[in-house]
Amino acid sequence: MLEYVTALQDGTDFTAIPNLWVKKDGKIFKNGIRPNLEDLDSLPFSDKELVRPFPHLWKDGIGYFMTARGCPLDCNFCFNHAQREIESGPNVRRRSAENVIRELKECKEKYGFRYIAFQDDIFLLQPRWLKYFLPLYRDEIRLPFHCHSIANLIRQEEHFQWLSEAGCIRIFFAIETGNEVTRRQLLNKTVKDEDLFRAAAMCEKYGIEIVSAIIIGIPGETVESALETVQKTIDTRVHCMICSFFMPYPGTELGDRARQMGLFEGNFDDEHPREACGIVGVFGHPEAAKLTYLGLYALQHRGQESAGIVSSDGRQLYTHRGPGLVADVFTESALKRLAGHMAIGHVRYSTAGSSTQENIQPLVANYKGGGLAVAHNGTITNAPIIRAELEDRGAIFQGSTDTEVLVHLIAQAGTNDFDEALFMALLRLRGAYSLLLLKADRMMAVKDPRGFRPLCLGRLGSSYVVASESCAFDIMNAEYLRELAPGEMICFGAQGPISSRPFPPAEQAFCVFEYIYFSRPDSFAATRSIYEYRARLGEQLAEEHPADADVVIAVPDSSVPAAIGYAQRSGIPYAMGLIRSHYVGRTFIEPDQAIRDFGARIKYNAVRSVLEGQRVVVVDDSIVRGTTSRKIVNMLRAAGAREIHMRISAPPWKNPCYFGIDTPKRERLIAAQASDVEMIRQAIGCDSLGFISLEGLLRVMPKTIQYCTACFTGEYPAGQAPVGTFDKQSMERIAK
Ligand code: SF4
Repeated sequence: MLEYVTALQDGTDFTAIPNLWVKKDGKIFKNGIRPNLEDLDSLPFSDKELVRPFPHLWKDGIGYFMTARGCPLDCNFCFNHAQREIESGPNVRRRSAENVIRELKECKEKYGFRYIAFQDDIFLLQPRWLKYFLPLYRDEIRLPFHCHSIANLIRQEEHFQWLSEAGCIRIFFAIETGNEVTRRQLLNKTVKDEDLFRAAAMCEKYGIEIVSAIIIGIPGETVESALETVQKTIDTRVHCMICSFFMPYPGTELGDRARQMGLFEGNFDDEHPREACGIVGVFGHPEAAKLTYLGLYALQHRGQESAGIVSSDGRQLYTHRGPGLVADVFTESALKRLAGHMAIGHVRYSTAGSSTQENIQPLVANYKGGGLAVAHNGTITNAPIIRAELEDRGAIFQGSTDTEVLVHLIAQAGTNDFDEALFMALLRLRGAYSLLLLKADRMMAVKDPRGFRPLCLGRLGSSYVVASESCAFDIMNAEYLRELAPGEMICFGAQGPISSRPFPPAEQAFCVFEYIYFSRPDSFAATRSIYEYRARLGEQLAEEHPADADVVIAVPDSSVPAAIGYAQRSGIPYAMGLIRSHYVGRTFIEPDQAIRDFGARIKYNAVRSVLEGQRVVVVDDSIVRGTTSRKIVNMLRAAGAREIHMRISAPPWKNPCYFGIDTPKRERLIAAQASDVEMIRQAIGCDSLGFISLEGLLRVMPKTIQYCTACFTGEYPAGQAPVGTFDKQSMERIAK
């Protein structure tokens, strides 16, 4: 800060000062992190004049002071343990007693303070320092004070005596929760109940008040356990209780755990953009629902929040939907109830609207034209505008998904001809939609005019199947026929499949990320093998960013083909240096003992025998926020890698996607904030970093397709990007 202020005063450049994030030309540049300052006495005293104009910060004659920085404890809800991972140098540092006393004396004389508040995270660390400091304070300052601690750090009676004699009238003890097991095992705070009661008794004996600090809303807390906390604070005879609400912080164990438990929308450090949805349809087969189930199972990678199937026997629709994975949502009996020869299914990861029961697809509605079910992959970017219009006209919405506007538009189209109503409704939509619709007597498959998201057609004997990816056909033993064309609509009904292209022609914008990351490598996208093109990306990457290395590894699974391609082109052997666990579900029970980087560790583990002493090329398919890349680099170094050269088979991701992929806002994309690749490399901590170029990417991709590359270039296909602010919560806000 001093360096910054000095630079401002002198009019010199301040943009490269470590620890600062600097906004310049509309971009935020994150400078590197400076080692911790060890000698706190070298700092000038804090300038209290700065807060004097603010009466709420300057009242009752209270002076606020710090004697130390840092905290050695591992409470896993607190930023301190996360900060220790990125900082260098000693974490806990303390000023000399003389230095603190000098500042206190100066301020007492100048400002007339009558009470001192020591705001150190844990004032009662280092008994030897306290033993020296407290008598000095008593003799030279002679003012009442309070301080913060945890109960098991102050065990000896003489420490309470020193405090009392020096003028301590109040100690803030952070007990967080009244449940000892939760406190010790979930929060990783080592305080036992007996520590609390002993400290309370000592405080009472020496006339020191206790203020307890508790947290409400800890993951897994019930009303009963919250009341237990209140009771525990009453039992310790506290004078006052400070109650905070649990706030999950990025980089903290408990923040990650809260996210894994699905306790809040979004994420801190999504290492990859998330695919939005997968859809499957079967027409003309006596076991349509079972085949759809198999297809959804194969498409599980496209969405894990919920799954659903709607079937038809020609007379009515049958529905089964629920939150969770396909294998958890459907039972044998549930599938039996899904009668009929046609069915559509959906797996969901939400990009618009939250993960509530009403938003689980296929959406089902009854209107004057009968029952209708809709399964959608993509994002309708003008849905907020359409919904507002429809609600003005009296429409009542059940949920908050963008897809629901389509159902209302069909119902309000003013024609009894379903195909015509559907077409009129679709003409209103902007953005990305690959759709399956089911009525009692027909199934429809539709792709938007730009063809953002994949949708392919297959055949199983005399039956037809439609799916987001061809891997769904393999599990059904169906034959892949072709990709639907952009703007194509196929009606499967009594007359067999009838294809039409009713929309005005538009330039194709197939999502290039389907090739890079989203689709399974054993699928075909737009008739081309994903595996083959992903491997070619690796080859191109090796040409553009060679490395002097001993081994090539992948961040599994999606990057494996690119890593193999890199190895083949570079001649460096490929090995499995990272193993990924595939079997972690939402119900996973975490160990009681907190483990650093738990989220990353549970997903990946490094293979020491591959990495030790080696110069490693690690290939990944994207960097979004950069936090997981940094964790992977740390993991590889901890496993003995000598050098780490990161290679990314996509260009830098600088812009949010509005077409069916859940990505963070621009401010959270590391490539959008960094001024260059070197800055990203520093943030991640690898020895070298290389992204495939956009030109290189397009050189490799099939030439018969036009691609959307907006997340790299910011050039969104004309007329398809949303107007105004648009994110995953836009529909939610309107619904509210
Ligand atoms: S913006 Fe990126 S992720 Fe989204 S559709 Fe375009 S290429 Fe795909």
